[in-house]
Amino acid sequence: MHILSRKLGTIILVLASFTGLNAQEIDGSKLLGHLEYLSSDALEGRRPLSKGSTLAQKYILKELASLDLVKPLYPDFIQNFSFEDRRTKKMLVGAANIVVFIPGQSSKKLIVITAHYDHVGMGKPSSAGDSIYNGADDNASGTAALLVLAEYFSKNRPKHGMLFAALDAEEMGLQGARALVKDFPYPLEQILLNVNMDMLSRSEAKEVYVSGTSYYPHFKTILEKIPSETGSTLRFGHDIPGTGADDWTRSSDHGAFFEKKVPNLYFGVEDHVDYHRPSDSFAGIHPEFYKATVKLILKSLLALDKNLLEKQ
Ligand SMILES: [Zn+2]
Repeated sequence: MHILSRKLGTIILVLASFTGLNAQEIDGSKLLGHLEYLSSDALEGRRPLSKGSTLAQKYILKELASLDLVKPLYPDFIQNFSFEDRRTKKMLVGAANIVVFIPGQSSKKLIVITAHYDHVGMGKPSSAGDSIYNGADDNASGTAALLVLAEYFSKNRPKHGMLFAALDAEEMGLQGARALVKDFPYPLEQILLNVNMDMLSRSEAKEVYVSGTSYYPHFKTILEKIPSETGSTLRFGHDIPGTGADDWTRSSDHGAFFEKKVPNLYFGVEDHVDYHRPSDSFAGIHPEFYKATVKLILKSLLALDKNLLEKQ
C-alpha cells in the first residue's frame, strides 16, 4: 500500500508536469494568433469607442475571463471611463480597460502588468491605398503578450498578486492608464511595480529595451542576471532625464504610474519605419524575435516576482 501510494504520488507528479505550461514556457503559436487577430483589418485600427475597439474588447475579455484563478476587480472585468479628447475638447464616454487579478500566493503586494490595446483607427490612405492603421506592433504585440502571460501565471501562481490590464486610449494621452491609477482598487502603495509593454514584435537589431532602471536600480540588479534568449537581447536604457525623445519615461502608459510615483519598467523596441503608419501590420512583424522577446519578459517577471519578495 505504502509502495503503491508512493508510485501513485509519482504518477500524479508526472501528470501534473504535463498539464498546463511548464516553467518558463509560453505558447508561441497562440501568441502569434492573438497578434494576428488583434491587428486584422476587421478591427479597423482599434480606435477608442469604435466598432473595431468593441471587437478587440470582446476577444481580450473572452481570453482573460476564462482563465483559472482570475478575479474581477471591476464589474464584469471592465473599468469604463470618460476623458476629454485633447483635439476636439469633447468628452468621450465609454472607453474601457479590461482588468483581471491573480491573487498572490504569499504576498499582498502587487505587480501590475499593462499593455494598451487601442490604436489610431482609420486615416488618410497611404500611397498603397491602405487606410487601416492596424497597429500590429503598436500595440497588438503588447496586448497579445499580456494574454499569454496572464495565462501562464493563471497556471503557475505568482508569489505576488498580479493585476493584468489591457488599456484603452493610450494613443489619446495615456487615458486608460490615468483612469486605472485614479480609480485603482487597492492603495497605490501596495503596487511593487508596473511592467508596461508597448511594441515588442520587430527589431532589425533583435533588441528589446527595458527602460526605467536608471530611476529604480534595484530592478536592474535582478534583471541583469537573466540569461539571454536566442533571437532577442535585453538592453537597458532610454531612461536618462533631459534627453528629450530619447527618454521614454512618459512615452507610454507606464508614464501614468511614474507620475504617481509608482515604480515602473517599460519593455519596448525602438521606433521603426512603419511606426504609426498603415503598414504597421502583421506582415511586418518578426515572429522569432517576438516570441523570444515575450519569453525574456516572462523570465523577467518570474525573476522580479521571486526576488522582490525576499526584500520585504
Ligand atoms: Zn503604443
